[in-house]
Amino acid sequence: MIEPKEALRIILDEVKLQSVEKVNLMDSLGYVLAEDVFSDMDIPPFDNSAMDGFAIIASDTVGSLRESPKKLTVLGSLRAGDVSNVKVVSGSALKIMTGAPTPAGADAVVKKEDTFLNDNEVSVLSEIKKGENIRLAGEDMIKGEKVLSIGTCLKPQQIGLFASLGKSKVKVFKTPTVAIISTGDELVEIDESLKPGKIRNSNTYSLTAQVMLCGANPLSLGIARDNVADTKKKIELGLDNSDVLLTTGGVSMGDYDVVKDVLGDLGAELKFWKVAQKPGMPLAFWRLDDKLIFGLPGNPVSTMVCFEEYVRPAVLKMMGRKLIFRSEVNAVFEHDLKKKSGRVFFVRVNVRRKNGEFYVSLTGPQGSGILKSMSLADGIAVIPSDKTLIKTGDKVKVHLVNLPEDH
Ligand code: AMP
Ligand code: MG
Repeated sequence: MIEPKEALRIILDEVKLQSVEKVNLMDSLGYVLAEDVFSDMDIPPFDNSAMDGFAIIASDTVGSLRESPKKLTVLGSLRAGDVSNVKVVSGSALKIMTGAPTPAGADAVVKKEDTFLNDNEVSVLSEIKKGENIRLAGEDMIKGEKVLSIGTCLKPQQIGLFASLGKSKVKVFKTPTVAIISTGDELVEIDESLKPGKIRNSNTYSLTAQVMLCGANPLSLGIARDNVADTKKKIELGLDNSDVLLTTGGVSMGDYDVVKDVLGDLGAELKFWKVAQKPGMPLAFWRLDDKLIFGLPGNPVSTMVCFEEYVRPAVLKMMGRKLIFRSEVNAVFEHDLKKKSGRVFFVRVNVRRKNGEFYVSLTGPQGSGILKSMSLADGIAVIPSDKTLIKTGDKVKVHLVNLPEDH
């Protein structure tokens, strides 16, 4: 039996980065950038107006007031997308739209709201400072500047940035495929009728969803029965078609727990089996060639918690993500909780924030098979191995697992 921290370290040490591929910009959402990106030009490429108004020389407006405005002769009008060869000289102005290049001679733009136009004479109703309402070339990005770093998960704002640089292809890390096999003679699929002694296979579904939320491709291989032949067939299929293989169930001490034997036969190297934690003690981890294999315990909460704490960081690391862990907060525990020492407890909690402080309460009974309390949880509180009692008001570490936007 090893400590959770050690288990995580062993897993992350085995992770290799996915290879790199080029994808179309429009397909790159959610991928992780596999290169640093530099701007090959100044953005914006030219000085331009930030307002609809008049390009002027700021010093012409010294002393300008609503009651005694300075008056300038309008030389013409310039729309966005055009350039003007008109030069603004003292006493003159050029009408200008937002985004149009500022004309020669002008050093400020007075916005339309601060002017009054009469034929070709514009009254400037206040003093305008030099540079006002002018967006300078390169104020967003300068040619040669690093604008995005390897490991960035691509969101709409980065995709917009690529577009503004004219880059239609993006180098990203390939999305890993995660195969999922649920084992158990007691399992039926969710659209089958339940017979005595049978339960529905929920793990395939919760795991598929967890894989999807990582941004990886799930490959669901259904149910393997608790015998060597069927389990071996499914595992071989999984290994042939995935980067990471997850099995659930069949890794405990039962007579029909065959997953470990099968993987041993296939030559997988067992890195550890059993972690000093609750839920999820029978967690097993292997490596076979470049594939990572997780033997997740069958209990539905054990499976999900082990995915959260071990599989998710590994998959995110493979994908090149910089941030691989959930946000962690210190929170006030709102119960008295007794436990045995020697195991880390991962406790399903509800997280609230009050006066800048986090508070957590249990979402319900904590049995490894009680999925309802998992479904209500937005945090997993981590109760250290050596603790035997947590009292109301004590601080605990909490992994925030259910924020709509993590990383
Ligand atoms: P095992 O680790 O195979 O002994 O399974 C532990 C417990 O988890 C048993 O009560 C199983 O019935 C249950 N279980 C195993 N696999 C699943 C699954 N795919 N969906 C729901 N419950 C499961
Ligand atoms: Mg089983």
